[in-house]
Amino acid sequence: MSAAATAAGRLVILDTGFEDGARFMAAWRGLAPQQSLFYLAVTAQVPPASSIADAQLRALWPLDLPGFHRIVLDDGRVTLDLLVGDIGQVLPEIEARVDRIYLRGALAPTLARPLARLAKPEAELLAEVSDEAPDEALKLALRKQGFVEQTDSTAYRALYQSRKPRLPVPPMPALRQAIVIGAGIAGASACHRLCAAGWQVTLIERHGAPGQEASGNVAGIFMPLLSKDDNIPTRLTRAAFLFGLREWQRLGGVGKAFEGASCGVLQLARDAEHAQVQQDVVATWNYPPQYVRWLDAQAAGALLGGPTPHGGWLFGQGGWARPASLCAALLAACGTRLAQRFHQEALRLQPQGEHWQVFDASGALLAEAPTVILANGAGAVDIAQAAQLPLARLRGQVTHLAQELGPRLSLAVCREAYVTPPNQGVICAGATYSSDDEKQLRASCQQENLARLAEIIPGSAVAALAASAPLAGRVGFRCAAPDRLPLVGPLPDYGSSGRIERLRDVPVHAGLYSLLGYASRGIIWSTLMAELLVSQLEQRPMPLEATLADALVPGRFMLKQRRRASPQDAEA
Ligand SMILES: Cc1cc2nc3c(=O)[nH]c(=O)nc-3n(C[C@H](O)[C@H](O)[C@H](O)COP(=O)(O)OP(=O)(O)OC[C@H]3O[C@@H](n4cnc5c(N)ncnc54)[C@H](O)[C@@H]3O)c2cc1C
Repeated sequence: MSAAATAAGRLVILDTGFEDGARFMAAWRGLAPQQSLFYLAVTAQVPPASSIADAQLRALWPLDLPGFHRIVLDDGRVTLDLLVGDIGQVLPEIEARVDRIYLRGALAPTLARPLARLAKPEAELLAEVSDEAPDEALKLALRKQGFVEQTDSTAYRALYQSRKPRLPVPPMPALRQAIVIGAGIAGASACHRLCAAGWQVTLIERHGAPGQEASGNVAGIFMPLLSKDDNIPTRLTRAAFLFGLREWQRLGGVGKAFEGASCGVLQLARDAEHAQVQQDVVATWNYPPQYVRWLDAQAAGALLGGPTPHGGWLFGQGGWARPASLCAALLAACGTRLAQRFHQEALRLQPQGEHWQVFDASGALLAEAPTVILANGAGAVDIAQAAQLPLARLRGQVTHLAQELGPRLSLAVCREAYVTPPNQGVICAGATYSSDDEKQLRASCQQENLARLAEIIPGSAVAALAASAPLAGRVGFRCAAPDRLPLVGPLPDYGSSGRIERLRDVPVHAGLYSLLGYASRGIIWSTLMAELLVSQLEQRPMPLEATLADALVPGRFMLKQRRRASPQDAEA
């Protein structure tokens, strides 16, 4: 093992195959007591769960879907990333610094360069005796990239000894101390991942308990998006949904560790044309039926308990959750590394040496730390450093129906609106969208919710509710970016001037980060986005493809603005 791996206590291995996972298991078993393992395995497909011998791993085994699948094992000590796809396309998407690379099978010489990009100085490149040894063309290409073959080995072994510049490695934080502002699902998930990584965290929340604002709904649904072209939001929601499911399982399970149920979500087609699109998408991408199935009108109607015109997608692992109970479970799992400060409002941030100081409205110092994470949703723009982020505050109203009045559903159903099975006697139907600030329930919004509900749920009983149901529900404010994707990473410094060409050149506030913009999908975003941010802070391998992580960088809007403003671009 290289000196770098031993020093950091972290071993990062890239394997160009996975097969039955025997090599991964051997690396896991071979870990020294204080060591952690990140094992990145590239595989064209997810091997069947039946080929996985280890019970812990098999229980968390992903469905055969494209993308990066992160599986956290052994209480966080071991992380397996199954990177599914063609190796030529996967390697450039990896953001990691690796200590060891296993070569398996016949690999094209063109892979030498992307492999060198990932290698730490002195990283080992190995083909074990059982592997097909690299052919001469690959060996030559590897040599050209700076891998120096070692003669002391019976199998192929080389060390990365290039002086070529590699991607810059930012310094590790000197102190693992952070302040998280906001105890919604974004902040609670951040606390959970940070504490698991050994950080001391102070959580500051203006209410007396977690999950009182957008995350205060009785039930919200979780499901991924699908599209014809498997676009970036589709890939991101798939990764977030699947990682969330695995992490909730580790937390104790939906409906056990927190309120909710993986009861399935039926997304009804809007019309005949949309039904055809839904059918085509499932056929084109050949999704495993556990992920999504197309149901025709008859099968969908059988689930709904009455006729429905067009059928829909059934996400069998989707469901609903009460976000505040998820917040509580996550915070409870943080242990003694977390200090929770309720009834405190963080309104001013000021750099002081290597630290950020956090003050309330009266100027009282609430806390200080080198790292501050804004996870305060619609409240973020009240803080000067975040005021120029293009975040909209979108009002939403959910209607609460008494269980005996609403539809009897065993799964969540959505179309333009959604309806959940009852939680503690309450059925949630929603939700509206508007840009106003009204905190009180509005009768017109309730009518809107019930009218939509009547459109998606068969039978006249629901339509009759519109007239008789008492005004009941909840108002919340979503925090949404123009592209409806989260903002995860360092906060851009809008006070800086000058032209910017690339995302990585956007000036940032050192030590200030955001987990914002969860819009209407906070339940699935929360887990993966916290993992992504902590991976950045800890310089761990990223849990997502670089293209997907780039789509979340908070500086993307500033980059667009500055490119647009640059005179040269205007001429072009
Ligand atoms: C009506 C409605 C229906 C929705 N339905 C769904 C759904 O079905 N599925 C789904 O996935 N998502 C749904 N969402 C979206 C989801 O609720 C949000 O994406 C999610 O709750 C956002 O979590 P958050 O932690 O970012 O924000 P929040 O939950 O708003 O948390 C921010 C926290 O920061 C605190 N805070 C703010 N400013 C400060 C400050 N200066 N100092 C200290 N504390 C501060 C707030 O008090 C709050 O607790 C819905 C949202 C609404 C409004």
